[in-house]
Amino acid sequence: MKNILPTSTVGSLPKPAWLAPPEKLWSPWKLEGDQLLEGKQDALRISLQEQHLSGIDIISDGEQTRQHFVTTFIEHLSGVDFKNRKTVKIRDRYEASVPVVVDEVAGQKAVFVEDAQFLRKQTSQPIKWALPGPMTMVDTLYDDHYKSREKLAWEFAKALNEEAKALQEAGVDIIQFDEPAFNVFFDDVNDWGMAALERAIEGLHCETAIHICYGYGIKANNDWKKTLGSEWRQYEEIFPKIQTSNIDIVSLECHNSHVPLELMELIRGKKVMVGAIDVATNTIETPEEVAQTLRKALEFVAIENLYPSTNCGMAPLSREVARGKLSALSAGAALVRKELGGVL
Ligand SMILES: [Zn+2]
Repeated sequence: MKNILPTSTVGSLPKPAWLAPPEKLWSPWKLEGDQLLEGKQDALRISLQEQHLSGIDIISDGEQTRQHFVTTFIEHLSGVDFKNRKTVKIRDRYEASVPVVVDEVAGQKAVFVEDAQFLRKQTSQPIKWALPGPMTMVDTLYDDHYKSREKLAWEFAKALNEEAKALQEAGVDIIQFDEPAFNVFFDDVNDWGMAALERAIEGLHCETAIHICYGYGIKANNDWKKTLGSEWRQYEEIFPKIQTSNIDIVSLECHNSHVPLELMELIRGKKVMVGAIDVATNTIETPEEVAQTLRKALEFVAIENLYPSTNCGMAPLSREVARGKLSALSAGAALVRKELGGVL
């Protein structure tokens, strides 16, 4: 890995069409049984190779083995009914049919460990694994048991902690928690959301990251962004709390967003995954555009703490566009590295 500006994606990449129909969320599997298991592993291999070929430094699984970044984890917990679903408003923004918590929730067995072991065997580069954060999990289902978002988040945090420890054991270098809900429920973040996340990372010695974005490039999110005005200051409400936490890395949306980059001052000292790739457009960034975002970020983040990345996951994009964006990210980071004196 290059010593400065190591590139990574936030997590998800498009799946091959033979595994699941592309360009949609919750896309159903096209295979079953043993064929599905083998298909998922093949997709993982392809995802890894595409990241290698594009020059990505910190490898992720591209989330090839999961249908959705939140619900796949929840499927493996006890106490959740996936059959009798209810419709709720996710992130206070769009309606979705979600599973229902009907009893005490608890982890049964590790969800992603075999996938992580598989990926670990295929590459010697650092690997990063994404898990949903407790608050975002709470916000992606209906609770008919605890009747308290805080209590439910705490139970999820315990299950996530078990999973994270098993992933660490499998050789994962960075465990990332996806918390898009942090950008919506500020008071909850400060009251209990961050505390729940601290519970999820308790006892880990690998690096930990939190990803907070403005969502995938789907219509409900794009419409919401139009209502946020010319300056998006959501991060300002939660960064002070994150700054004092034990989380090592913060992943943010920057390119093409209206986030004032000076807000990164509020997390000075943390490592920052700077989103230099917009996932809400099919237009592929030029290396120079990526470099511009990174140069601006360098005004607020120390060079050794800057991790060029994407704004969010790329699952809903076409494979061709996603490949182009991976290469642009790499080429943009290389431009800045060169300006700063090459690979240090
Ligand atoms: Zn995201």
